[in-house]
Amino acid sequence: MGKKSKEIANLDVDQLIEMLNAALAEEWLAYYQYWIGARLMEGPMRSEIQTELLVHATEELGHAELVVTRIIQLGGTPLLDPAMWAEKARCAYESPTDPYVENILLQNLSGERCAIQRYDEIAEFTRGKDHSTHQMAINILNDEIEHEDDIEGWLRDLERLKEDYAKLRV
Ligand code: FE
Ligand code: FE
Ligand code: MG
Repeated sequence: MGKKSKEIANLDVDQLIEMLNAALAEEWLAYYQYWIGARLMEGPMRSEIQTELLVHATEELGHAELVVTRIIQLGGTPLLDPAMWAEKARCAYESPTDPYVENILLQNLSGERCAIQRYDEIAEFTRGKDHSTHQMAINILNDEIEHEDDIEGWLRDLERLKEDYAKLRV
């Protein structure tokens, strides 16, 4: 970490690096969750949702890049072994054993809610103390909020589809 940047970071840097490494693990798991889920998925609106889930996967990878860059700037060591991902992540990876679109979306949704919590905590921890990490956390948080909103929208559409179908059958 540069001399001046260390001087201005007015917080427990080791604790922040711990949080960022957990976030890094969660981003990789989220990436794979989207990436594999999109490929397995079956059911209504598949072609539309699949495309956007792959966009989300790429965005999670972009978050991992931002987070790892910041860990290194802070003088930390990023997780070096993928075996650490499951150990360090608070947002659990959920195996997509049921490929129905709604199940895939629910798995991604819990990941997004967990990510929102994570970046809210990092933003709080760094607020007024480490502007650089703070701004990064807010930028990522905004993406995660958008991801949650996309997923909630599709789940609502799927509900509507089920309701309309149920009406038809009466
Ligand atoms: Fe992310
Ligand atoms: Fe996300
Ligand atoms: Mg989106």
